Amino acid sequence: MRNTLNDIVVPICYLAAAGFFILGLKGITQPRSARRGLRAAEAGMLFAIVGTLLNKEIIDYTWIVAAMAVGAVLGVVLSLWTPMTAMPQRIALSHAFGALAAGLVGFGHYLEHRGDLTVATSIPLVLEVLLGFLTCTGSLIAAGKLQELLPTRPMVYPGQNALNLAVFVAALAAGAVVVADPRNTLAFGLLITLALVFGLLLVLRIGGADMPTVISLMNAYAGLSASAMGFVLDNQLLIIAGALDGASGLILSIIMCRAMNRSFTNVLFGGFGATAGSGAGVAEERPHRSATPEEAAMLLETAREVIVVPGYGMAVSQAQHKVRELADVLERHGARVRFAIHPVAGRMPGHMNVLLAEADVPYDRILDMDHINGEFPQCDVALVIGANDVTNPAAKDDPSSPIYGMPVLDVAAARTVMVVKRGMSPGFAGVDNDLYYLDKTLMLFGDAKGVADGLVRELEATVPAH
Ligand code: NDP
Repeated sequence: MRNTLNDIVVPICYLAAAGFFILGLKGITQPRSARRGLRAAEAGMLFAIVGTLLNKEIIDYTWIVAAMAVGAVLGVVLSLWTPMTAMPQRIALSHAFGALAAGLVGFGHYLEHRGDLTVATSIPLVLEVLLGFLTCTGSLIAAGKLQELLPTRPMVYPGQNALNLAVFVAALAAGAVVVADPRNTLAFGLLITLALVFGLLLVLRIGGADMPTVISLMNAYAGLSASAMGFVLDNQLLIIAGALDGASGLILSIIMCRAMNRSFTNVLFGGFGATAGSGAGVAEERPHRSATPEEAAMLLETAREVIVVPGYGMAVSQAQHKVRELADVLERHGARVRFAIHPVAGRMPGHMNVLLAEADVPYDRILDMDHINGEFPQCDVALVIGANDVTNPAAKDDPSSPIYGMPVLDVAAARTVMVVKRGMSPGFAGVDNDLYYLDKTLMLFGDAKGVADGLVRELEATVPAH
């Protein structure tokens, strides 16, 4: 009976899991199908767990059930407790735990099988352990920086590249010794230590605006580690799922690199971000124009083309529902309202899409940067809600700016710009924003939800009767 289970049911479960994972990845490429994609991925995970639990090599379920119970409780508590704005840190922690699990499985496998490891099994084992442990410490540092428990600025010092390279080469050398002589426990211990240290060094030097790329890269490394684990354990599903995770993480990293104009090769080897992320820090006193919601509403009443540019501040104040109401009332005033989404707006890929979908903003009103950038010159009002870095013209115009080269939304080309934020402080990259000092820009100071509410109330009062 157990043989039948193992030979037939387990492969079917694994096949179903792999199929659902692929459907899941396809689904989450579009906001419209993202929920379906997530459900498919969840179904895939269910099949994967059931298939694994049916494995005939399991002789006792006690530890497995206990670990699942502890993991499930921690996962549920962590998810309920984490606010939407802290999701990137939460994801970084997941990568750290996943990668630690892969590294520990490799460690356990080594302890048990070091006497009978072949070259074919020791190479993936070394890769699993190297990628697993470096991703663990790297992701923990990334989570600490995103949560601002650690300084977000890049930590740079003379000889940093040489030290990083030396640690990485030493880790590879220790791995090569393990492949040549699997019983050399000293080399294996060194491999783990150097991998942990390399993860720290890799991410400590990265700061500010480059963090999104780090997160997706850590995702890729964790996936590749899991895939290597599949080769070690001879588990096809782990090979497939890890490869899917690794490939999608790498593709996401490439997309993020393009969005931020970073070299992917530099990112892969950790040699990026050293100069970014530490601009002006404190905004200088420069003249700017501010307006009340009442004054802004008078301008908005006559606007025919409005482009809303949401950013991290909209997420902080949870203003998405009010912003949706604002778009509705502007439409009743006869305006066409569209939303411009920068690929790294907010604190995680797709952050703004998730919030706008939650507020039921129709998908056809949401356009990505490449599609909407040409439309700003014809737009009457660009309404920036809690966005900063992704609108900063210095990224195009000022070669000395730390964010120079990052493609940005061309908000400054609109006829009038309105910016909703609480004060003049810089965004995540710590760079002052020249947009705020243009003659055409009106600053609407206040919490995004409160200001949007004020605008809605003013505009509701003047909606033309039909
Ligand atoms: P920014 O972080 O550049 O700016 C957000 C602005 O929102 C701030 O200037 C802040 O100004 C304002 N704000 C904060 N709270 C409120 C509030 N309650 N009401 C109104 N305004 C508020 O955000 P962007 O979305 O423009 O850019 C994203 C940045 O984050 C980029 O630098 C990107 O690289 C980085 N990043 C992106 C990730 C991703 O995957 N998307 C992940 C990690 C980092 P004030 O304090 O004056 O109100």
